[in-house]
Amino acid sequence: MSLKNIFSKPEYIDGIGNIYPIKLKYYDDFIECSHLLYISKNHFEPNNIPLLELLFYSVEQFNLSKEDLIKKLEKLFSLVINKPIIYQEYENYFWFQIIDLVKKKFGDLIVLSLSHRDENGNYYWLCQCDCGSPPKNILGDDLINGITNSCGCSKDINQNKDDIFDEKSIISNHNYDNIRNIIMKQNLLFEQKVYKTELMNKWAEKAMKAKQKNAPNISLEDIITTVSVGCGKLFSDLEEYSIYQLYSDFFRLRKIMEHDSSVHFLCAGATNLKLQDFAESLNLYHNPYDDLFVSADKLTGLNKAIGK
Ligand SMILES: [Zn+2]
Repeated sequence: MSLKNIFSKPEYIDGIGNIYPIKLKYYDDFIECSHLLYISKNHFEPNNIPLLELLFYSVEQFNLSKEDLIKKLEKLFSLVINKPIIYQEYENYFWFQIIDLVKKKFGDLIVLSLSHRDENGNYYWLCQCDCGSPPKNILGDDLINGITNSCGCSKDINQNKDDIFDEKSIISNHNYDNIRNIIMKQNLLFEQKVYKTELMNKWAEKAMKAKQKNAPNISLEDIITTVSVGCGKLFSDLEEYSIYQLYSDFFRLRKIMEHDSSVHFLCAGATNLKLQDFAESLNLYHNPYDDLFVSADKLTGLNKAIGK
């Protein structure tokens, strides 16, 4: 068993680099675009073309325009990869270019590192000028478009510019499925089962709603406040948590509390109670859609009871 998830470590993919689990402070940004991840090949018939292409071809089906889809995907990818991403298309091809300007030269400037993203989503890069003045943060678009090519010391338009786009650093049909799986797994998003018939889908929706009716109504905010109170964590600490870390604490806390109340019941003479270990394994990857319908063999008792 790997400790990657509990320590919120990224997943590395060749060409792409690291894919990071979402921190809770970016959760609101994430849910604005993460719903696209729920769309799987199972939603399409026939589905022998790549998923990303299916998304683009059938974008209206999801009440989106192509521009919205592009914006959402750019946002989603840049949130998890932590680098600017721009959509590109050429003839019949399209892809998402990951932009990494580190070590690239723009006139007199060499890029040292990615500095930060401002509130409008613009990326700034820390650059060193040939003249030796202290490094400066410069807007990525200004570097790429040749608007800024020195710290301000040189008035010359210096067109000597490196090739900035690495053709291996792209998200396209060939790796979207893999990246999608990683993002879903890291952030505990579960693929909804798509059944062959529309009627089955309606039943599944009903069954899910009925199931949720019996479950306590707990929002993410409730989980955060429970962990904060129960574990004595500050909200500012929890902002840095991944969803996996938050759920781990929450479910562990519940196990400990369940254990404590079982002990009380047992001491008070309860007999029909099995004491569970509070440290027993948590399975955060349990897909709630997996056991939506009870299998036929489990129904035999019920069928007998109702005389079938
Ligand atoms: Zn300079």
